[in-house]
Amino acid sequence: MADESSSSSRDSRAACAACNYLRVRCNFDCPLARYFPANRASEVVWVDRHVGLAGFVELVNRMRPELRDQTAESLISKAKGRRRDAVHAAADIAQHLLAKTEATKKELQSVRQHLALLRSQQSPTSSV
Ligand SMILES: [Zn+2]
Repeated sequence: MADESSSSSRDSRAACAACNYLRVRCNFDCPLARYFPANRASEVVWVDRHVGLAGFVELVNRMRPELRDQTAESLISKAKGRRRDAVHAAADIAQHLLAKTEATKKELQSVRQHLALLRSQQSPTSSV
C-alpha cells in the first residue's frame, strides 16, 4: 500500500503524512517529513490532537540535535498512549510500572531469604 511512498527516490518524494494531513505542499525541507513518512498517517492525527503539529515541531526543535529523534518518538508514543485512554494514559503506565516494581521487590526479598537460608545451612558455624 505504501510501497511507492516509502521508496527513497528523493526528487519525486511523496508528501509526508503530516503535510497530507494538513493538505499542504511538502517541501524537501519539511520539518515533519523526518518523523512522519507517508506510512505514519495515524500517528500524525494522534500527535496533532495531543500536542498539535506546531507544538510538536517547537518541542522537538527546542532539544539538542542529538536528542530530537528520541524526543519526537517519545511524543509520538505519548500521543499513542493518550489515544488509547485520553484521561488515564500516563497514570496507567505509571501504575503498571509501580506494580511491576513491587512484584520485583517481593521476588528479590524472597530470593534473599532463600539465599540466607542456604548460607545458614552451609555455614560451618551453624549448629543445631
Ligand atoms: Zn511534509
